[in-house]
Amino acid sequence: MGKERILEQLFTNRAIFEIFFVFFPIFKVLKIFRFSDDFINLMVLPLVALFFGTGNRTPFVSSAVVARVFLDPDLRLFDYDPDCMISEQPQMFVFPKLGEIYQVIPKAIQGKVFLNRPAQKVERKGKKIKVTDDQGKSEVFDYLIFACDPETILKITKGLTWLERKLLGNVKYFDDVTVAHTDEDYMKKYYDIDMKNRDLHFVKTDEKDPKKIDISFNLTFYQPQLKDKKPYVFQTIFLNKEDQDKWTKNEIKKGKIQLEKWWRQMSHAWTHFAKWIPCQRFIQGTKSTFYARSYTWVNTHEIATISGLAAAARIEAPYPFGYDKLAKKQFNGYSFVVHGKILTKGTASMLLTLCNVLFVIVGLYIGFKVLHALLK
Ligand SMILES: Cc1cc2nc3c(=O)[nH]c(=O)nc-3n(C[C@H](O)[C@H](O)[C@H](O)COP(=O)(O)OP(=O)(O)OC[C@H]3O[C@@H](n4cnc5c(N)ncnc54)[C@H](O)[C@@H]3O)c2cc1C
Repeated sequence: MGKERILEQLFTNRAIFEIFFVFFPIFKVLKIFRFSDDFINLMVLPLVALFFGTGNRTPFVSSAVVARVFLDPDLRLFDYDPDCMISEQPQMFVFPKLGEIYQVIPKAIQGKVFLNRPAQKVERKGKKIKVTDDQGKSEVFDYLIFACDPETILKITKGLTWLERKLLGNVKYFDDVTVAHTDEDYMKKYYDIDMKNRDLHFVKTDEKDPKKIDISFNLTFYQPQLKDKKPYVFQTIFLNKEDQDKWTKNEIKKGKIQLEKWWRQMSHAWTHFAKWIPCQRFIQGTKSTFYARSYTWVNTHEIATISGLAAAARIEAPYPFGYDKLAKKQFNGYSFVVHGKILTKGTASMLLTLCNVLFVIVGLYIGFKVLHALLK
């Protein structure tokens, strides 16, 4: 059996092995299975950087997460192609007028929705929670669901417990910048770009250090409503501010830059899966406070949405998509790991929950032991 097949078998038997591989960075697994440096640096790492926007932390992304992107029938982004690795052109579409969501949702729910009032101070006293905005105006709530980043939570919340402070501090971030531009010369200089083939994604690997990667997109081909409009609009992402001396950002012609946007990107390193994801269940609910947002698992729109529904379910809002088998399965999977309980009715038995807890503890123990032995 070839090593690709062995690896696929290991990952496909997820129930047994995933809990083990989740602690192994992708580059370590590929090295252990003796994949070539070219395959690792020129194929796998650029692809993972593209999926997760992980910059120079890419080699440390958990191998189990990478496997899910290829092998999980429910989460798979692309089919594995034995010749090209990935050969599909995804069908992309954009929701028209998505911004209207901020007017439509408040109208549809009973309750007050406040916009443009960033929270500056959170105080949890007794059973009440006081949130003060940037104008010094306060509101009092029974429950609090944080849907911002942990760095902000740590900054604005008074009286966090030791465990809350410790666990939220385990979510790590990096600074990246995205440049939207129309500089076709820049693209031709750094990428093997073929307009006729309608290539969407481009990855540039640093020749001196192949683990350092820039990524670009042809946004025109991404968006059906821009189909064949010229000039082509590109997006180039430069990852990790600490590496900016190696960036080629200054070579993009100033007059051709449409937007430059900095963003903080969470790390998907194995530590995120060891020190944050399985542990956060112990702070979800402390002082009537819950945590939502994609950093509670992996950085995708789906997880961001599921995380909000799960936090709402913790304060008695019924899960609205129980009729959809896949949605319910993903929601229950997320809820169990992140909140330590299954939040839809009629699925959880005490025995199942107990077995799962034991499974997680044993998996964590074995994973740590093996990892420490390997990293010694
Ligand atoms: C360039 C790029 C490309 C991406 N591509 C994809 C993709 O193709 N597919 C995919 O699934 N995901 C993609 N993602 C990831 C996806 O965008 C995120 O996972 C998702 O937006 C996270 O949503 P969220 O609600 O968890 O966090 P955010 O959207 O970051 O929302 C957090 C909110 O908290 C607010 N906030 C912060 N501080 C405060 C405060 N003090 N008071 C009140 N509010 C506050 C912020 O203003 C922000 O609106 C991409 C991300 C980037 C940057």
